Amino acid sequence: MNLTKTILKNLFHKPVTTGYPAESAHVTERTRGHVEIRIEDCVFCSMCARNCPTGAIHVDRGAKSWSIERFGCVQCRACVDGCPKKCLSMEASYTKPAAQKTADVYTKPTEESV
Ligand code: SF4
Ligand code: SF4
Repeated sequence: MNLTKTILKNLFHKPVTTGYPAESAHVTERTRGHVEIRIEDCVFCSMCARNCPTGAIHVDRGAKSWSIERFGCVQCRACVDGCPKKCLSMEASYTKPAAQKTADVYTKPTEESV
């Protein structure tokens, strides 16, 4: 009897999941969407890369660049919480779905380029 009730309920209720990305994602204040960096404030200390449990962050002090493999990130926030310059943040929106794994690379603008 319980099973019949459950089957009928599931047949006539909307799915609990959303069809993201065709439909917009349900985002709340606490949603951990993606990591963002204010590259201007980064000192390339590599604390974030050391704290990252999945090795998704790469820091190149010489080239003054910081990169993140979006598919490798599990949104744990360890990099954000451990950044001494507070230049990392966890934004609520999700990165766009992609067919291939890519890294987003950010390079600090030089004084000449500003
Ligand atoms: S911990 Fe912060 S300041 Fe250090 S490399 Fe990472 S983002 Fe830059
Ligand atoms: S949120 Fe976690 S998994 Fe993602 S880059 Fe930061 S430390 Fe790595």
